[in-house]
Amino acid sequence: MPTLTEIAPGVLVATSSFAVTTTTVVVGSSGGCLVIDPGVTVAELTGLAGKLAAMGLRPVAGWSTHPHWDHVLWSRELGDAPRYAAPAAITVAETERDGILDGVRQAVPGHDLELVGRMRSLDAPAIPWDGPEARLIVHNGHAPGHGAVFLPGSGVLVAGDMCSDIEIPLIDTLRTDPLGDYRTGMKRLASVPGVRQVVPGHGHVGDAEELRRRLTLDTAYLDAVTSRKPAHDPRLTPDSPEWMRTTHEDQVRYFRRQRAL
Ligand SMILES: [Zn+2]
Repeated sequence: MPTLTEIAPGVLVATSSFAVTTTTVVVGSSGGCLVIDPGVTVAELTGLAGKLAAMGLRPVAGWSTHPHWDHVLWSRELGDAPRYAAPAAITVAETERDGILDGVRQAVPGHDLELVGRMRSLDAPAIPWDGPEARLIVHNGHAPGHGAVFLPGSGVLVAGDMCSDIEIPLIDTLRTDPLGDYRTGMKRLASVPGVRQVVPGHGHVGDAEELRRRLTLDTAYLDAVTSRKPAHDPRLTPDSPEWMRTTHEDQVRYFRRQRAL
């Protein structure tokens, strides 16, 4: 059962047993709430629904930060509120649906696959809902249509899979300009005024200073791999998960190839 921790008034964060994935819940008016990236395992989603119900909260809107399988899940118990994602994310969720469903089947079996990735396209500056303003910062770093959410009232930035304390920058090498897209995304997140806390898609909540530290680490990492220098990144250790070390090697190879072209 996920623990919901209140990190700011009306902003709750739960952390999944899978890859330290975060879920953010924003309390709205009349018992409604906004659910951003609602957890990963079947039990966690059911548990989240139960916890929200016990607190007198019911999801009235959902937001998926980006079209990777661990950020597009849902359960019947969470109800049938509209779930949104940025237009480019919807395109990927549709065209790459088979891969997304494979990811879910393999990592967290038991989900109702009909509910996976069923978001509506939202092309707007903020999430339309009856609650605190939830501004969208959409870019294509890490994945197309990656939508961070900034809550100006509480200064909370829900960054999606960027600005992590445990993951190196993960670029989407299938796109035309993944490095440019990633740097643009970082720039947009760095220029959001009034951030007091950052919630990464995987990892731990940090304050404004910690956000700067992570962005500096991310820049150093990208500078290193793009100039064929070793990346001395504290997030990359012999204890890092195998997939992250493999992805790092893939990214090193990708930039080596780019420079050779
Ligand atoms: Zn991701």
